[in-house]
Amino acid sequence: MRVINDITAILTGMWTTWKHIFRRPVTIQYPEEKRIPAPRFRARIILTRDPDGGERCVACYLCSAACPVDCISMQSAEADDGRRYAEWFRINFSRCIFCGLCAEACPTMAIQMTPDFEICKRDIMDLVYEKEDLLVNHGGKDPDYNFYRHAGIGVTQPRGSAATEDPPVDVRGLMP
Ligand code: SF4
Ligand code: SF4
Repeated sequence: MRVINDITAILTGMWTTWKHIFRRPVTIQYPEEKRIPAPRFRARIILTRDPDGGERCVACYLCSAACPVDCISMQSAEADDGRRYAEWFRINFSRCIFCGLCAEACPTMAIQMTPDFEICKRDIMDLVYEKEDLLVNHGGKDPDYNFYRHAGIGVTQPRGSAATEDPPVDVRGLMP
């Protein structure tokens, strides 16, 4: 019985080898030949802009909080019109594991992953990207989304006065 099992295993292995002899090879001669990754492939990160050209990033730090390897850092600032932005924004790609959690966490769709995976460098310091290396002149995967059209720059009406809003709760009136 054991001999039969051994012969079956050998024949199965040989059949697998023979099947692959006549298949087209899948090897790609990179970098002369390139395979285009799927649009959702997670590689080089960009910072995108609103349809009106404004920077989407509001320097809320959510991406850096979500990053499991702490490779995002920034400094927030506020423009004269009250709009927040990142004074500087840095990603250390030598630590990035391209997990995409930063893009998932971003409320303004500012930070996005792209399929551009060709960012290898010999000098590890060249993998530290500053804001000018990250900020692009388009909206990336969702070009029509404009965070400020939904959220506004500041609240101009008193809270609770909008059509679908309840008045705020007076927490001091909530007696135990
Ligand atoms: S892809 Fe992951 S590891 Fe890279 S910056 Fe975003 S959260 Fe951090
Ligand atoms: S990229 Fe997005 S999550 Fe990160 S600070 Fe800017 S707005 Fe916040």
